[in-house]
Amino acid sequence: MGIYIVLMGVQGAGKGTQAAILKEKLGLPHVSTGDLFRAMNTLDTPLAKRVQDLMEAGELIPDDVTNEMVEDRLSQDDARRGVILDGYPRNPGQAQFLDNLLAKKGESLTVVPVLELDRETAIKRAEGRRYSPDKQRVYNIYFNPPKVAGKDDVTGEELVQRDDDHREAVERRIDLYYEQTAPLIEYYENAGLVARIDADQAISEVAVDVFAAIARRLMD
Ligand code: AMP
Repeated sequence: MGIYIVLMGVQGAGKGTQAAILKEKLGLPHVSTGDLFRAMNTLDTPLAKRVQDLMEAGELIPDDVTNEMVEDRLSQDDARRGVILDGYPRNPGQAQFLDNLLAKKGESLTVVPVLELDRETAIKRAEGRRYSPDKQRVYNIYFNPPKVAGKDDVTGEELVQRDDDHREAVERRIDLYYEQTAPLIEYYENAGLVARIDADQAISEVAVDVFAAIARRLMD
């Protein structure tokens, strides 16, 4: 059996940060549908253009496109032992698709850690995010600023912001989270998979709680 983790939580709760830690410690791939869509930005096709427009507005990409991309990613060799999903599933249709996909492989979800954070903090965390140009380091202008404002600590290069981290798109993504994604928590709760975690703690404290949730499920 592989380890299949779905990280849930509102934008800004720290899913990406925790996924990176899990990836390093567990040696499983981090599958972020947002990152996969952002990687399409370099393509000059009608689909890539549509994806880019929807993302910039903070809207969701249609389920058929998203599900196909996830199916493709999970069929790759490095995903044999499991994956850390971040940003997927985002609505009941996607959750159903994922359940079926895993069932076809004789697998099932291991645990769904839900990173809980209030709306106002979430907005500030998402809107304040800045990255080094190679996306290796993440800062936050409010909570985790670089040593020199606007510059990467390591290379001194100008920090960049995601195209959809402006306030309007952040609020739209957060609204969609409460409307469409939060109801999934109940779906997974009924399956006994949910572990609620306080995301308003230090990164390492959140990570300890996430690992404890995984360990508990593996020992069931
Ligand atoms: P994220 O990085 O998870 O905040 O995702 C950024 C954007 O990618 C979203 O606002 C959507 O436009 C798109 N996206 C990411 N994951 C999904 C998904 N599971 N379903 C639909 N759209 C998605």
